[in-house]
Amino acid sequence: MKTLFLFGRDLRLQDNEALSYASKSASELLPAYLVPEEFPQLSLVRQHSLVESLRSLSASLPLGLEIAQGSVADALEETLWFAPERVVATRSYDPTGMLFQAELAQALFERGIRLELVGSNYAITPGTIAKDDGGALKVYGAFYKRWMNHGWAQPFELEVSAVSWAEPRHKTLPEATGPAPFKIRAGEAAALATWKRFKANRLATYDEMRNRTDVGGTSHLSHALAHGEIHPRSLLVELGDSEAHDVYRREIAWREFYADVLYRNPHTYDDYYEARFSEMRYADPAEDAKLLEAWKSGNTGYPIVDAAMRQLNQTGWMHNRSRMIVASFLVKDLHFEWMVGARYFEEQLTDFDPASNSHGWQWTAGCGTDASPYFRVFNPVLQGQKFDPKGAYVRKYVPELGHIEGPKVHEPWELIDGYLHGYPERIVDHSKERDESLARLAEIRK
Ligand code: FAD
Repeated sequence: MKTLFLFGRDLRLQDNEALSYASKSASELLPAYLVPEEFPQLSLVRQHSLVESLRSLSASLPLGLEIAQGSVADALEETLWFAPERVVATRSYDPTGMLFQAELAQALFERGIRLELVGSNYAITPGTIAKDDGGALKVYGAFYKRWMNHGWAQPFELEVSAVSWAEPRHKTLPEATGPAPFKIRAGEAAALATWKRFKANRLATYDEMRNRTDVGGTSHLSHALAHGEIHPRSLLVELGDSEAHDVYRREIAWREFYADVLYRNPHTYDDYYEARFSEMRYADPAEDAKLLEAWKSGNTGYPIVDAAMRQLNQTGWMHNRSRMIVASFLVKDLHFEWMVGARYFEEQLTDFDPASNSHGWQWTAGCGTDASPYFRVFNPVLQGQKFDPKGAYVRKYVPELGHIEGPKVHEPWELIDGYLHGYPERIVDHSKERDESLARLAEIRK
């Protein structure tokens, strides 16, 4: 059967259930990607992240990738010279992906072409793990137990040379509207190499080192997982029973938990999971633009916050501990709604993932599932001292503090020469804003 295979957030050849399925019964298979009409409106980081992933995927295909751009119907139309009898894709579970696939289904229905949606980008498909009565599990611990008991399939292997690939007619990559802000490493081969390196060098100490912002103790696979350049199943089957392996498995499970929560509650992409938090008093991004700008650019006067934001702006990635610290600071010290920060992350992260981002923010803001209680306000100085104990992370990203040795770098206001090289003074007083935050919480508790 002539098959159009549409890649989405599954930009890989191996362990791709839908692609393996399609290739088995395809007389000819045209691999394609439909670039969304909104591509030029995406941030440069998002544009280049996608372009690099597509470039790598196209290079890994024996005859390349068919690429079309526009509204779903228009882009699809461009690929129909191939006259497919069916279209196969991996099923999406996030709001944007589901909307795209609904429009695709309609466009194909109107043209009399069959659509088959197969598999997912999760070890266990969102919506599968549930309570005995079928209801959603709202707490991660309970989800994890059932997720482990459920288990997952073995990776799907593809013999690339055995597939009857069709020759694409349109191979031009989408053109970004400006230069890449930094180098983006993408693709399935890079993801597998990263995993191999992490497994050999860092996995055994992951449980001890994963929270240290100054050490590369984590896998850096989030870009690959977000773009589907590697499937979590491929990672999970290689994990054993040690404490470190178990902690890593639990992190993969957080990704699966949040995907499940977002699938069941699509509005939580940009709205409160705990509705009462919408009634809280918040800062206004227009009126308080200076504070917001200081946070975005890493000029709050709190060294760990500024190092983290500059890491994001300079590399497109931020350490998980740092994400929690800056999210807490924006919501509880500067009093902005979590969505304000989440949208900035969406623009700047190369690993942007709608479920992990919205729910990572809501967890930290105290309004999500399992939320860290709202009254637990991260102290940026103590967090810095604990998770950047020698101050190396701050010195790396905040050169104005490069002259301060050791952990003293987390409190430049205690030093005579702390502000020697133009580091900004604190924009707010943490202990005062902590009290303010708790007072605002008390107002919605009534
Ligand atoms: P590792 O520690 O090596 O973990 C391996 C994988 O497990 C990660 O690649 C990721 O897929 C998953 N994972 C790890 N921690 C988490 C977590 N807390 N929640 C969900 N999945 C997790 N992750 C994204 O992929 N995209 C986002 O847009 C995103 N936004 C976030 C926003 C906030 C405010 C917070 C607190 C967390 C966010 N995370 C996001 C989760 C986490 O910070 C990143 O997945 C992690 O830092 C990526 O680095 P790594 O690949 O080295 O992680």
